[in-house]
Amino acid sequence: MKQSKSSLAVRLSALLPFSRPNEKTEQYSTDSEVAADILWKAFLLGDIRGRTVADLGAGTGILGIGAILLGAKKVYFVENDMLALPVLAANTKNLCSAHVVCSDVMDFSLHAETVVQNPPFGTRQKGADVKFLLTAMRLATCVYSLHKTSTIGFIQEKIRRVNPDFSCTHIWDYSFALKMTLAHHRRRVHRIDVSCLRFQNKKRLIK
Ligand code: SAH
Repeated sequence: MKQSKSSLAVRLSALLPFSRPNEKTEQYSTDSEVAADILWKAFLLGDIRGRTVADLGAGTGILGIGAILLGAKKVYFVENDMLALPVLAANTKNLCSAHVVCSDVMDFSLHAETVVQNPPFGTRQKGADVKFLLTAMRLATCVYSLHKTSTIGFIQEKIRRVNPDFSCTHIWDYSFALKMTLAHHRRRVHRIDVSCLRFQNKKRLIK
């Protein structure tokens, strides 16, 4: 089926959500409109169609499933939460390019051309955001990664020091609606400023 950005958002909004989001691993689902917007941009930049993609910390699979709907050749969904895995399996059931991998992201080592990820923001698991980013850069040439806007200066500086082969080519800002799924949230909908960073390996450009 031919997708438009809005039909993609509608398809993604129909996926099964987390049954019991885990506070410690910062299980926040990406909003379907935000996911569709990021994937659409990645598609237009040539990073999705025909590519092998890895969705690290896949959760319910929204980012990787969107990549499949936009023509990715193969998508690895890497997730280590035993409660999220059945939801992920159900959401990817009829997609033959989907490969669900039950693993800690840090132990995953298959090559991909593009990574799309919404990692833990590092609020409750200190340093998890940077660890995910460095893993993504070990696996792929091009990385799309969501972070709290307040942390992106720090993240860019860290990457400049630790992995100077990668440069940040784009930053897109979003306001994320976190529905009150986690016990410590008081307001019903809590908004946070989030940015999607696109990093590209300067030495290994994809053809
Ligand atoms: N990608 C999904 C989920 C984001 S929440 C979305 O965009 O909606 C972050 C996810 O990363 C959670 O599902 C959590 O279980 C997973 N996660 C956190 N640490 C992980 C690790 N070390 N290895 C694998 N998955 C991890």
